[in-house]
Amino acid sequence: MKYSQLFGRTRKSQKQYESKNQTLLQQAGFVDQVSAGVYAFLPLGLRVLNKISNIVREEMNAIGGQEVLLSALVPQELWEKTNRWNLDVAFKTELNNGGKFALGWSHEEVISTIAQQYIQSYKDLPFAPYQIQTKFRNEARAKSGIMRGREFLMKDMYSFHVDQTDLDAFYERAKDAYFRVFSRVGLGDRTFVTFASGGVFAKFSHEFQTLSDAGEDTIYLQRDKNIAINKEVLTDEVLAELGVRRDELEEVKAIEVGNIFKLGSRFSEGLDVKFLDEKGAQQFPVMGCYGIGPSRVMGTVVECLSDEKGMVWPKEIAPYAVHLIDIGEGARGQAEFVYESLKKRGVEVLWDDRDLRAGEKFADADLIGIPLRVVVSERNGKMLEVKERSEGEVRVIELEALSAFV
Ligand code: ATP
Ligand code: MG
Repeated sequence: MKYSQLFGRTRKSQKQYESKNQTLLQQAGFVDQVSAGVYAFLPLGLRVLNKISNIVREEMNAIGGQEVLLSALVPQELWEKTNRWNLDVAFKTELNNGGKFALGWSHEEVISTIAQQYIQSYKDLPFAPYQIQTKFRNEARAKSGIMRGREFLMKDMYSFHVDQTDLDAFYERAKDAYFRVFSRVGLGDRTFVTFASGGVFAKFSHEFQTLSDAGEDTIYLQRDKNIAINKEVLTDEVLAELGVRRDELEEVKAIEVGNIFKLGSRFSEGLDVKFLDEKGAQQFPVMGCYGIGPSRVMGTVVECLSDEKGMVWPKEIAPYAVHLIDIGEGARGQAEFVYESLKKRGVEVLWDDRDLRAGEKFADADLIGIPLRVVVSERNGKMLEVKERSEGEVRVIELEALSAFV
């Protein structure tokens, strides 16, 4: 992609928002705020978001998840079956003939209603549909940039099992898959599985909490034992159960990037999903649900990995692999050649082909945060100056040697 043709470029405005991710993402032209908690993703931002979603998709597929796409409009009748129509989180809307809907903020009702039609016997279980879809939530406070949207992307998976044992086994596999997602997006070293409130369904749910001062949650860590506990559930009883003492705990701020729950049969009973077990007796399937917010994950990466110059994207989710810069009139032809050769080799490359001073192009490259900067200049002739965004060292190499870096 040639930068001069890109829709959504860096902005000169130095406006600082309350959240770092919003400031950097907007300055770099990745996203644009439409209203508080409502964001548009521009080409660079959408590339990152799609890469994160694809990692989530690969890891869910790897444990047997099957992708679906559910409706965003969810009728009132369904919410009433589970007593969830009157919750403040919902944005509601009405048909001209009076029918009422809430915009989907979670989809247990919809998926269970569909599952009901496909589950007859224990042989039809287990299965785990998931979707990656825009969720709508009437959040009271939306000041954390794309980490807290009123409209945001969520991957939500729902699993259906014949019994608790089968759910427990799948739940552990889902937990492992979540760890793989967070390490692939570059947050593995600072993300902790955390005991959190399970609502009405189970004693605990498990949150994936990424340490960051920008986090809205407070958690307590016992690093040696690798135990993390959300403040919401920190009681003497819970400490005793987990075998940790209060004076061993470290209080830290964290961002909830994922949350998995055991739902038991609350929704299968509420929505009348039944199956016949091996003895011919009617049972309710036991369910689990598994949420992760790709847009919140993207904001979290910005919060955790950026530096004073701008963003620093890990390779797996960077919008492009190479940020090519040409300096001086005489380098244009060589830059064009490098650009075409890289593209031919399948390397994703963004070429800043604008007629600007080197300093301005370098500053923009640092702000945008693509992992590898490649400079072509008259001075260096056919040689390339290569620098990783996360390091200071500049190396001068031949085009042939570049593949080792990408
Ligand atoms: P929070 O406590 O931060 O409001 P939640 O517990 O209500 O979040 P869940 O219902 O567990 O969120 O949603 C699953 C995942 O979806 C979260 O772990 C998070 O990654 C993401 N998510 C939830 N709410 C938002 C939001 N408003 N904006 C962006 N991502 C969100
Ligand atoms: Mg949660």
